[in-house]
Amino acid sequence: MFESLSDRLGGVFDRLTKQGALTEDDVRTAMREVRVALLEADVSLPVARSFTKAVTGKATGAAVTKSVTPGQQVVKIVHDELVKTLEGDEEPGRLKIDNPPAPILMVGLQGGGKTTTTGKIARRLKERDGKKVLMASLDVNRPAAMEQLAILGEQIGVDTLPIVPGQRPVDIAKRAKQQAALGGYDVYFLDTAGRLQIDQVLMDEVQQVRDAVSPRETLLVVDGLTGQVAVEVAQEFDDKVGVSGVVLTRMDGDGRGGAALSMRAVTGKPIRFVGLGEKLDALEEFDARRIAGRILGMGDIVSLVEKAQEVADVEAQERMMKRFQKGLFNMNDLKGQLQQMQKMGGMEGMMSMMPGMGKMKKAMEGSGIDDSILRRQIALIDSMTKKERANPALLQASRKKRIAKGAGLEVSELNQLLKMHRQMADMMKKLGKGGMLKRAMSMMG
Ligand code: GDP
Repeated sequence: MFESLSDRLGGVFDRLTKQGALTEDDVRTAMREVRVALLEADVSLPVARSFTKAVTGKATGAAVTKSVTPGQQVVKIVHDELVKTLEGDEEPGRLKIDNPPAPILMVGLQGGGKTTTTGKIARRLKERDGKKVLMASLDVNRPAAMEQLAILGEQIGVDTLPIVPGQRPVDIAKRAKQQAALGGYDVYFLDTAGRLQIDQVLMDEVQQVRDAVSPRETLLVVDGLTGQVAVEVAQEFDDKVGVSGVVLTRMDGDGRGGAALSMRAVTGKPIRFVGLGEKLDALEEFDARRIAGRILGMGDIVSLVEKAQEVADVEAQERMMKRFQKGLFNMNDLKGQLQQMQKMGGMEGMMSMMPGMGKMKKAMEGSGIDDSILRRQIALIDSMTKKERANPALLQASRKKRIAKGAGLEVSELNQLLKMHRQMADMMKKLGKGGMLKRAMSMMG
């Protein structure tokens, strides 16, 4: 497994200064780890370098939100910059297919998933947009490929151009154009032949086809697992035939998707779709945020920081902290903490967002601690009188019975809550004395 960026940064978190803003040193330390994480995610070295350089400038001096660590803040900045780099100006899934019939040229190396992707996009246009679609295979050297497209067409209920043996690709393209116009099709796909490697014959052939139909879109289909190779292929195709968009396939695999970043940074071409499996519905519009999270191996830290920023009511926190430092921690304070946890997505949400908490989460699964507990605990506190909340020492047997009944729960559960409260109050007292409280609080959000 890959080491996620948060694990990587874990080691340097402690060395980052705990001040209000990120210093140049902080950022430089963190960026070394970011660069390694990018390289591991298959981002090419020059792209990783220029990317971290750009981020260094942005991150230095950035304010650190109170409730997150500087390391988490760095991750957020890196993530946002990744998203910006990955995102084009256009809507990824929106193909230029006005003025029917619109030709779409599909290009790429053999085995990259071109034919499958043609079927997937055709299906999407038919089902989602109600378009009438025609598909034609130009792979004259591989009759099996032509058959494959015909079978796909049947599966998704999309017409394919009848196969006429002996025709050249450019003639098939012209026939498809004619058929599309006559048959009232909105879109027609030309699934060109792939080679195992880029060669001149392949490029000549594609150029001829391009010149014969003037495609509205030329979509390059590349295997997202091939990293740097995918980028070279994209550059080559773009130079020779001009590419309007890219589809990355096999993004359902173990790869971290760094090819997406290199692709975007090097070619400037928008990534339109990602293939997520062999099935014909396994296609998604490119989502820069999701890929960024995947490249960093830690989309969740980002949402943690975002939520913390959203949720944190700094003043209230500071007020609370002052109370805690004095060793004051009553039921109202506990309720505040429980509610804060709820806002952060409950136990499970918080656990899954925190790096390294996976094991803890597993351990908790068997222990019966789940989100309904938060709700029940809050209900118990709500069932107390104002006096009781301020001074839980008042809670003797009869009061306990009344409170539990009011919340519709058992006294044993109230006892657990009280025990937890005592433990937390003790902890707050200890932490408050040692000045540790501030740190602990910033971790809790
Ligand atoms: P072509 O030679 O470029 O036309 O490639 P194909 O469309 O024939 O695909 C080659 C193989 O990759 C087939 O077995 C496909 O089912 C598979 N494939 C295509 N796209 C994806 C994808 O997004 N994920 C996975 N896991 N497999 C894919």
